[in-house]
Amino acid sequence: MGGLPARTSDQRTVLLRLDPDLRWLLPPRLRDAGQRELGFDPDATVGHLVQAAGVPLTEVGGLLLDGTPARPDARTQPGSVVEVRPVLRPQPVPPGGFLLDVGLGALARRLRLLGLDAAWSNAADDPDLVAHAVAEDRVLLTQDRRLLMRRALPHGALVRGSRPDDQLTDVLDRFVTSPAPLTRCTACNGGLAPVPKAEVADRLEPGTRRSFDEFSRCTRCGRVYWRGAHAQRIDALVVQAGVARSRRGPRDGIGG
Ligand SMILES: [Zn+2]
Repeated sequence: MGGLPARTSDQRTVLLRLDPDLRWLLPPRLRDAGQRELGFDPDATVGHLVQAAGVPLTEVGGLLLDGTPARPDARTQPGSVVEVRPVLRPQPVPPGGFLLDVGLGALARRLRLLGLDAAWSNAADDPDLVAHAVAEDRVLLTQDRRLLMRRALPHGALVRGSRPDDQLTDVLDRFVTSPAPLTRCTACNGGLAPVPKAEVADRLEPGTRRSFDEFSRCTRCGRVYWRGAHAQRIDALVVQAGVARSRRGPRDGIGG
C-alpha cells in the first residue's frame, strides 16, 4: 500500500487498513475505503483492535504495525496504522477434522459425502461448541464471528457464502483436503465398512438388489450405502472440489 504515510496525523486514533479480501467484514459504509478508525487505547493490543473492527483473528494471516510485522499482542502508538492481511490459503486441517456450527448442517453432509470428517453439533451453547472443538482437535466452521472471537478456540474459520454449495467451495478452497467419497456416513459422520451383499439384501429395494453388488455400512448407525444412491451428487462434489483447488492454484503455487 505504497505512497500512504505509515502513521496518521490524528493522535487520538488508530487506523486499521484491511486487505480487499477482508473488507466484506466491515460495515457497508466503510467497505469501499477498506479502513476503520478506532480510538487510541494504550491498553488495547493490536489483536483486540482488529477484532473490535469486526475481524476475527482466525481470518488474519499477517499484521503490519506502522509498517513492521507485528504479533496480535503488540501495542499501538497514538496515530498508528495497522495493516491486516488475510489467512494464506490453503490451510492444514487439524488432526481431528472439522466441527460445524448448528447452522451448517447442509455443509456438513456435503463434506461427509466427500469422505471428510465433519462433526456437526446442534449445541446452541457457544462454550460447549468450543469445548467440543478443543477436546477433539477440530477446526470450528461457523458463520458467527463472535464465536470465533472466543479466546479458548485454537482453530476456527468463518465460512463464506449463504448457499451450501458456495460454502463448500469456500471450505475446499481454504483447507487442504483429500476427498475420499463414500467412506463416511452422511447422516452421522461414522466410518463406512464394506459389507457382503447377502447381509443387507433384505433391506434393499428390488431394483437396487438387481443393479449393485458392492455395499458398505456405517460402523456407527448401520445405514447402508452403495454408489448408485449418491453417484451423481458425489461426482458433482468431486468436480467442485477440483475447481476450488485449481482456482487457488496460480495464487499459491499449489495446482489442482
Ligand atoms: Zn451413520
